[in-house]
Amino acid sequence: MALDIVLLGPPGVGKGTQAERLEAWLGLPQVSSGDLFREAIAKGTRLGRKAEGYIDRGELVPDQVTIDMIAERIAKPDCAKGVILDGFPRTVEQARILDELLAKMGRRVDIVLDIEASEETLLERLTGRWLCRQCGRVYHRLSNPEQVRGICDECGGRLYQREDDRPKTQRRRLQVYQDRTVPLQAYYRRKGVLVDIDGEGDVESVWRQIKAAVEPLVAQKA
Ligand code: ADP
Ligand code: ADP
Ligand code: ZN
Repeated sequence: MALDIVLLGPPGVGKGTQAERLEAWLGLPQVSSGDLFREAIAKGTRLGRKAEGYIDRGELVPDQVTIDMIAERIAKPDCAKGVILDGFPRTVEQARILDELLAKMGRRVDIVLDIEASEETLLERLTGRWLCRQCGRVYHRLSNPEQVRGICDECGGRLYQREDDRPKTQRRRLQVYQDRTVPLQAYYRRKGVLVDIDGEGDVESVWRQIKAAVEPLVAQKA
């Protein structure tokens, strides 16, 4: 039986960081809409050209563009046993379509991990965030630094800071989260799949909560 997990939460709360751990633990692919967009932009594809302006301004990419991209991704064979969705869905419309897509495969969103933290914490995390240009791995200047400055521990790629992690865009993204994504909490709570995760503590303490929430499902599906 498949296991489909959604990571919900504001920009910088640690969704990608926890998704990496879930992937390693469960052997399911992490599907990050932000990573897919950034890859498309780097390659200069049509999708990338459509998404670029929105991302630079801290706005959401239109639902239809985003949904098409995710539908194509989760139809791939590596997603047959489930996925870890990071950054998708981000609007109620996206959530509805995701439900339909999964239903066609006899699946459903099994659990939504809603990671939340104070705005102060989010801004600190976004400001210190560095990413590997090559493999996408995420670091933090203070809380999770690389071993050799500017170089990825994992693959030797160069680290960079995202353009949309600049202060002005950060604030816009947090506002967009409040307006467009917070309604998903009610949507998933009603379905009985939402779990509140306190994202304020260190990576390990957030991970302990996530593991405790997901473990019963793993046992049930095994
Ligand atoms: P963060 O990890 O900081 O939350 P992401 O990497 O998930 O940011 O997303 C970066 C940007 O990509 C968003 O600000 C938005 O412009 C676009 N994006 C990512 N996921 C979605 C989505 N599900 N719907 C619309 N736009 C998205
Ligand atoms: P998101 O995908 O939600 O935008 P990331 O996983 O990219 O968030 O994390 C944002 C930044 O915060 C990264 O630099 C990451 O290393 C760091 N980080 C993630 N989780 C924690 C945590 N629990 N404590 C401190 N720093 C964290
Ligand atoms: Zn790397």
